[in-house]
Amino acid sequence: MLPIILKLKLATAAAAGLVATASPVVVPADALAITVAERVAAPVEVKLYDENLQVSTTVGIRRDGTMDDATTAELKHLFRCRTTGRQHAIARRTLAMLADLADKYQPRTIEFVSVYRVQSGESPTSPHRDARAIDFRIRGVPLTQIRDYLWRAYTEVGIGWYPAEQFIHMDSRPALHDSAWTFLAGENHYHPYWAEVARRPAAEVVATSPRHRSGV
Ligand SMILES: [Zn+2]
Repeated sequence: MLPIILKLKLATAAAAGLVATASPVVVPADALAITVAERVAAPVEVKLYDENLQVSTTVGIRRDGTMDDATTAELKHLFRCRTTGRQHAIARRTLAMLADLADKYQPRTIEFVSVYRVQSGESPTSPHRDARAIDFRIRGVPLTQIRDYLWRAYTEVGIGWYPAEQFIHMDSRPALHDSAWTFLAGENHYHPYWAEVARRPAAEVVATSPRHRSGV
């Protein structure tokens, strides 16, 4: 990590200095290109808190959901099925979403409730059984904000809002239809109003507002 951060700082400083002095040297574009490329490749610092065992860990996950071998092993263990103890590599796209959230809400901690689940009683079609789902919250960020962001930013996902239990379920489901739900009184309520609103184009919201106001 350190050399990359150092190089980033140097590249940024060099670019800023050159811009400030309006130097004709053509280094800035190169320096910035390197900066962008390394930012994409550099892992996002993901701070995790295990709600059940009450332990904190920080791992590095790249924005594409990949990571080094040591971190892969660490996450498999961290996200293991808590009933059976079994471990499974978590879907790359789900981890990419996790890295995205960590980056977006930096420096907040992602508190995870449940990830891989294979105990008897877990539905055969559960994305948790497939190691594609994470139940979590981010302390200091309203669940509704996380929920709406994910639903707006991603497709081929399942996003569940659990207001009573205070967590968000997110899963990646390539080649399956998107699904949004609110879990209330022991049941999933699909096609919730919030999902419709979150994906409504901004222009449409603006266009419909006056009509509502005029009562047409
Ligand atoms: Zn879940």
